Amino acid sequence: ASAACKCHACYGGSDCSQAVSECIIDLDHGDPTMYEAYWLANGESSTTVIPGWQRMSYFAHSQQVWFMEHELEVQIRALHAIVGNAITEGRHIVVGTGSTQLYQAALYALSSPGEQTKPISVVSAAPFYSSYPVVTDYLRSALFRWAGDATTFKQRSGNEEAYIELVTSPNNPDGRIQHAVVNGTGPVIHDLAYYWPHYTPITAPADHDLMLFTVSKCTGHAGTRIGWAIVKDALVAKKMVKFVELNTIGVSQDSQMRAVQILTAVILGYNNAGRSRLQESAKKKPLLPLLLTDSHHIDNQDLLFHYGHSIMSYRWNQLRAAVASSTTFSLLDFSPDHCTFFGENHTPTPAFAWLRCNREPDCQAFLKARGIITRSGHHFGAGPEFVRVSMLERNHSFELVVQRLASLQTPD
Ligand code: PMP
Repeated sequence: ASAACKCHACYGGSDCSQAVSECIIDLDHGDPTMYEAYWLANGESSTTVIPGWQRMSYFAHSQQVWFMEHELEVQIRALHAIVGNAITEGRHIVVGTGSTQLYQAALYALSSPGEQTKPISVVSAAPFYSSYPVVTDYLRSALFRWAGDATTFKQRSGNEEAYIELVTSPNNPDGRIQHAVVNGTGPVIHDLAYYWPHYTPITAPADHDLMLFTVSKCTGHAGTRIGWAIVKDALVAKKMVKFVELNTIGVSQDSQMRAVQILTAVILGYNNAGRSRLQESAKKKPLLPLLLTDSHHIDNQDLLFHYGHSIMSYRWNQLRAAVASSTTFSLLDFSPDHCTFFGENHTPTPAFAWLRCNREPDCQAFLKARGIITRSGHHFGAGPEFVRVSMLERNHSFELVVQRLASLQTPD
C-alpha cells in the first residue's frame, strides 16, 4: 500500500483528481512529510527489522553513553563528515528523544542550582521558535525560566544578570542565519536542526560548544523522535546524560536502530555516488518531474540532500512567483552563498516561509478564513502581520496553497 491509495482531503473522485474547493490546508506544523516520496523510492535500504527477542534490555550496545547505540554515534559522525556541517572530532555525542528532550537536557546541564538564587533567564532573538517559551516554562522550573527576546534582554535586566542564550540557525521561523546577540558572557545553545544542505548553503563546519541536531528535519523521520547533541565540555555532556536518564531512563533502542538504518542509507547513497558524481549531479537540472509524478523515475533518487534541495528550490520558486504579482504579501529575500557540500553557490531554501500580510493586520485570521492554517507571528515573539508557513508538507498541500495564495493577490 502506498500513500497514493488515499486521496488528500482537498481532492476527490475515483482517481483523486477533482479539487474540493472548500477544503482546509493545514500548514501550521513543520511536519516533514515531503520526504515520504524519497523513502518510498528507497524502501529496501531503509527498512528496519527487529526480532521480538532483541533489544529488550534497558542497556544499549554502547561504548560511551549507556543508553546510546554505538552504531548510531558512528553513523552520526560519518554523516557530519560527509556533509561538512559540524565538527565532531573530540566532541561528545548525546542521543535524545528528539532534540526537544536535548534542549531541556541542555538547560538542566547549563544551570547551576547551587549558585543561583532564582531561575536563570533563557533568551533568544525574536522571532524565535515557538516551542521554546512553552517547553522552557511548562514545569515552572526553579532552575530556568523563559525571558523572551535576547536583543532587548540586557536593556531590560541590567548588565549583570546571568542567562542562557539560544541560537537557532537557520532560524525557525524566518530561515535567517543567526549568531548570539547578548554580550557573550553566558552559555549558548546552538539549535542547528536546519543546518543541512537542503535548506541552506553549508559554509563551514559548525564548531560551537553545544549544538543540537535532529533526524526530524534532516531525513524527515520526525516520528522516530531521535535527536543528538554535539558537546565540547565533558561535564555538560555528563549532566545531559543524567537528565535523559532521569527523564525517560534512556532513549528508545528501537528508534535508535531505525535511525541507524536511515542514516546508513543516506550515507551509502553518497558513498556509492563518490565525490565526482556528487559534484556533477549538483549541476544537473532540478528534479522537477518528481513533484508531479512519482519518485521511481528520477536520477539521484538515492541522494537525500540532492532530492531535498531540488524540491525546496522548486517550492521556493513557486511560492515567490505566487506572491510576487502584487503587494498583498511579502517574503524575505536571501542572498546566495557558496555551499561547500554542493560545490556551488546556493540561495537559502528554508523549511518555513515567513510570510507578511502587507495590508491585513491579522495575517493568520485572514488566511484561516480562506482555508489556509498557518501559525501567527505572535507565537514567535513577532507581530500578527506575520505567519509561518510550512514548506515541508506533502506535495498536494503545497501545490494547493500556492494556487490559493496566487488567487488571493489583488493586482497593484
Ligand atoms: N528545533 C527546531 C528549530 C525545530 O524547528 C524543531 C521541530 N519543529 C525542533 C527543534 C524539534 O525537533 P525534534 O523533532 O527533534 O524534537
